[in-house]
Amino acid sequence: MNQNVVVIGGGPAGIEASRKLRDLGYTPILIESQPALGGKLTRWDRLFPDGVEARAILDPMLQDLDGIKYFTDTEVLSINRLKDTWVVKLSNGLSAQVRAILLTTGFDLFKAEKKEEYGYGIYERVITNADLEDWYKSGAPLQFDNVHTIGFVHCVGSRDEKAGNRQCSKVCCVTAVKQACEFKEKYPDATVYCFYMDLRMFGRKFEDLYLKAQKDYGIRFVRGRVSEVSEDIDGHLFVKAEDTLFGKPLKIKMDLLVLMAGMAPAASSASLARMAGITTGEDGFLVPRSIVGDACRASREGIFLAGAVTGPKTLPETLGEAASAALAIDQFLKTPVKQ
Ligand code: SF4
Repeated sequence: MNQNVVVIGGGPAGIEASRKLRDLGYTPILIESQPALGGKLTRWDRLFPDGVEARAILDPMLQDLDGIKYFTDTEVLSINRLKDTWVVKLSNGLSAQVRAILLTTGFDLFKAEKKEEYGYGIYERVITNADLEDWYKSGAPLQFDNVHTIGFVHCVGSRDEKAGNRQCSKVCCVTAVKQACEFKEKYPDATVYCFYMDLRMFGRKFEDLYLKAQKDYGIRFVRGRVSEVSEDIDGHLFVKAEDTLFGKPLKIKMDLLVLMAGMAPAASSASLARMAGITTGEDGFLVPRSIVGDACRASREGIFLAGAVTGPKTLPETLGEAASAALAIDQFLKTPVKQ
């Protein structure tokens, strides 16, 4: 029992933390509710800012699971405190008694159909960033004919009080720019717009990618929110927006519209937080003891947090935090229990 740690969530954070815990001499028990490990990264084709293939990051991690007990298709049914330990009951009939639990349940992609004005789920030619990535990954021909003009709508379900998500999702500006450039590589004659509120290109090489998008790919950046999308009889779209830099309304015919759905708190995190009695923030993400100084520990002893379970994060940030959480757990488990 003393050498076991339960890690809940088998995406990049959970896998990375489990590998680090194993390297430190522990036996991680990794729990994933989906049929396979890898989380949302399994769906992604290439990563910003360099275009590295997602599988070049994920595959070596998945091939290095020796010493980690993992269960897929498995739900956590309950988490209960027993003296100085936690008892975790699983849907596969097993249970574990451990001193430390790490929650790495990540985020849910915002459900774009909630923003009815954009027509996702109503108009065939309105898709999300994840749908586009599925298409890039498949290598299949585009399912629509005559795609000459395409738009990317930033901040869908992020920075949006009405949608219940006030936070910036951090990664979708650079993802939109990456996906826009990739589209131009496949369709050099296409006209590509990005509709943004602010461009948050904060990371190393992100600004370079933005400049390249303008200079080399001719992506047209329009500062303004899309207010309405409609469809003509041929299934093509009309997008209404306001260019707030020039103060003029726009109505553009589009052949494809990509909604940059943001990161919303994972529904599973809220239920795990209730079971463990730890704090969930007003924004729905789990709350660490201190964002600056103690980001890996939750409000109760022995519960640790890593990755987007505490808020939007890039993949490098997620992997870094997973490693930090493993070290924090090591330190915690080496500290004798107070009698
Ligand atoms: S990263 Fe960009 S698109 Fe995403 S929520 Fe923030 S400002 Fe909006």
